[in-house]
Amino acid sequence: MARRNIVILGGGSGGAVAANHLGESIGKDHNVILIDKKPQHYYQSSYLWMARGWREPGDISRDLSAIERRNVRFLNDRIVNIDTDNRKVTTDHAEIAYDYLISSLGFETHPDDIPGDSHLAHHTWEMEAALRFREALRNFTAGRLVIGISSPPYRCPPGPYEAAWLIEDGLVERGVRNNITIDFFTSEPGPLGGSGQPSEFMREHLELRGINLHTDFVIDQVDGSANALRSTDGRSLPFDLLFIVPPHRPSSVLFDSGLAGNAGVDVDVDTLATKWENVYAIGDSANVPASKAGVVAHQQADVVAHNIAHELTGHGQPTRFKLHTL
Ligand SMILES: Cc1cc2nc3c(=O)[nH]c(=O)nc-3n(C[C@H](O)[C@H](O)[C@H](O)COP(=O)(O)OP(=O)(O)OC[C@H]3O[C@@H](n4cnc5c(N)ncnc54)[C@H](O)[C@@H]3O)c2cc1C
Repeated sequence: MARRNIVILGGGSGGAVAANHLGESIGKDHNVILIDKKPQHYYQSSYLWMARGWREPGDISRDLSAIERRNVRFLNDRIVNIDTDNRKVTTDHAEIAYDYLISSLGFETHPDDIPGDSHLAHHTWEMEAALRFREALRNFTAGRLVIGISSPPYRCPPGPYEAAWLIEDGLVERGVRNNITIDFFTSEPGPLGGSGQPSEFMREHLELRGINLHTDFVIDQVDGSANALRSTDGRSLPFDLLFIVPPHRPSSVLFDSGLAGNAGVDVDVDTLATKWENVYAIGDSANVPASKAGVVAHQQADVVAHNIAHELTGHGQPTRFKLHTL
């Protein structure tokens, strides 16, 4: 069989797993190409530990070029267009034809979309932002800390709760907890949608740590002149330090290329196939009723990589995605 081009977009959780899998299984006989604008893979779950002071950036990042040991070509470039009619991907510096395409371009964060004085809000949902928050937290010894979520969906539904607990734990360790009040808000009726055992667990653990929960709190604006976060129903949370998980959207190149709507790229939930031939979407930017989580992206990557390898080699049996959600 002629060598095929299997192009993987995004070297995050889903893309790195798919590239590893395909490089190992068929990379000697076919061209497996991974593209990412960043030279490194960041392990995002550890942004929270980094903010807590338990990890440094070098501990949670790996050079994506290391994947070349697994029969994968890595291209460090920004993808600017995906042309499903002509089966090619355009980057800032190249045009790459594909026979199979796996998109795992993830979510982008948009902190500027928070209404009002959005620049006052910290978060830990990106590497640089997490480092800035760590500094701000180190200098915070007394006052009002407000933590919350702008609006779902965002990466890792339990993440903001875990963030609040880790922050609180750090304040206790530094001996300043008694000088600080902590309020947690969500636009949802309760944690993680507001019902079920995981929601109850989050509630209990906020309470155990003396963190006040505010539900159905939809941001009207960050009011910098009064140092207060205001909700659309007239409530107000004064703050000295503010932390808001920012709004998320699928990677903009997916919108610009006509692959995604607000909910992401539509896929068949069993196979992650899109309506375009040999084009698959996995991870946060795939429209699947599952948590936006690395564990989900990982499993989807394995399914798609396995099925492409099966199609090209005839080995094994096709497999299907089994939904994980929280
Ligand atoms: C604070 C935090 C805590 C988390 N905790 C957990 C957890 O405990 N458990 C869990 O399962 N998940 C967790 N997650 C979620 C998990 O990290 C994501 O769900 C997962 O990374 C999604 O994988 P993905 O491949 O879809 O996207 P990503 O891993 O985000 O990768 C997308 C990649 O695409 C690249 N890209 C995007 N656009 C372009 C472009 N135009 N050109 C080139 N490259 C581009 C990006 O640079 C990026 O490398 C957490 C996330 C955060 C932020």
